[in-house]
Amino acid sequence: MLTQSPAERVDCVVIGAGVVGLAVARALGLAGREVIVLEAEGAIGSGVSSRNSEVIHAGMYYPAGSLRARLCASGNRMLRDYAASRGVSHQMTGKLIVATDAAEAAQLDSILEKGRVNGVEGLVRITAAQAREMEPDLHCVAALLSPATGIIDTHGLMLSLLGEVEAAGGALALKSPVIGGKVTEEGMRLDVGGPEPMALLARNVVLAAGLSSPRLGAALGLAHVPPAYLCKGNYFTLSGRTPFKRLVYPVPVAAGLGVHFTLDLGGRGRFGPDVEWVNAEDYRVDPRRGDSFYAAIRRYWPGLAEGALEPAYAGIRPKITAEGEAAADFLIHGPAQTGVPGVAALYGIESPGLTSCLAIARYVGELLA
Ligand SMILES: Cc1cc2nc3c(=O)[nH]c(=O)nc-3n(C[C@H](O)[C@H](O)[C@H](O)COP(=O)(O)OP(=O)(O)OC[C@H]3O[C@@H](n4cnc5c(N)ncnc54)[C@H](O)[C@@H]3O)c2cc1C
Repeated sequence: MLTQSPAERVDCVVIGAGVVGLAVARALGLAGREVIVLEAEGAIGSGVSSRNSEVIHAGMYYPAGSLRARLCASGNRMLRDYAASRGVSHQMTGKLIVATDAAEAAQLDSILEKGRVNGVEGLVRITAAQAREMEPDLHCVAALLSPATGIIDTHGLMLSLLGEVEAAGGALALKSPVIGGKVTEEGMRLDVGGPEPMALLARNVVLAAGLSSPRLGAALGLAHVPPAYLCKGNYFTLSGRTPFKRLVYPVPVAAGLGVHFTLDLGGRGRFGPDVEWVNAEDYRVDPRRGDSFYAAIRRYWPGLAEGALEPAYAGIRPKITAEGEAAADFLIHGPAQTGVPGVAALYGIESPGLTSCLAIARYVGELLA
């Protein structure tokens, strides 16, 4: 008969050392809890958190009252304060959402209204002339200006969060994939693989495994686990002169925000992400996708020169609704939904998950309190 190895007792385990898992671990640590973060890879933030636009979103797109709307609005302020107080590089560049024809101009009104309802700071409609005064290379018929949008060094943020986890007595275990587990009367037993396999018996578990959360939730026997879909977003960098000082977004498209222009903190411009539904994790960028980028970008920047775009990198959105279905809200389950005392699970934490990370952490803390 097989016997199971005895499990080491711990207070809290966070599965996944992305920006959300680290923010949750920090919040638990600051609340006086003993926390271990288990990460499958050999470094923090090697999942969705290292493959995104690094934008601090203001929150004007999401349905009123949704978790994405609420946690983005509060997360925006929390993240800006956090970055300023901890010296995490960030810059409030501001953002323009541009309409290039009358139909898109009508869409700006509904985004502006959603922004007002969602409590977005300082969002205003401006004329094409005002937009061109700010960004002379821009073509549009009208625009929205969002001063509460900016960019942040995501890796610097994750290092800062990890530093606070460790200062609060928590620990990070790299190369420690959770490979299974089960609910016991004394807590959740987690089986950890990797070079140093172990078993842990945790009073609280937070599943923050990004793309793997649904698969792992099912393996752990949690209730109400959603399906998982992968939606890739490809980026192209711009060689040559950077045309804009602010971030420039078209009006959103289904499943994404449209091929937009963002800056990194070094001032280099890039475009993306586009929308490509895929069946497997593959981060290669097909140069042929550049063709649709040129067409999309030239609607608001006619001056884009042929050959100026180079394939850069790709990220994958952890979707929980399929192509053609309505976009899902963040799905954050507390014990009532996971069906397991002390266990929370996070699914579908796509954009604006980076912006919302500190607010998500506070919310999870409340669910587990
Ligand atoms: C293309 C794209 C652009 C985006 N742009 C923005 C943006 O500009 N602004 C914004 O606010 N948000 C943006 N987002 C969203 C944001 O990047 C994510 O919401 C956020 O990074 C999610 O963090 P996470 O910690 O939940 O997931 P992840 O960063 O994926 O972390 C999950 C971790 O769990 C680990 N893991 C997986 N399985 C296991 C296991 N079995 N055991 C242990 N560990 C495991 C993984 O290795 C990984 O490190 C974007 C997302 C995408 C895809």
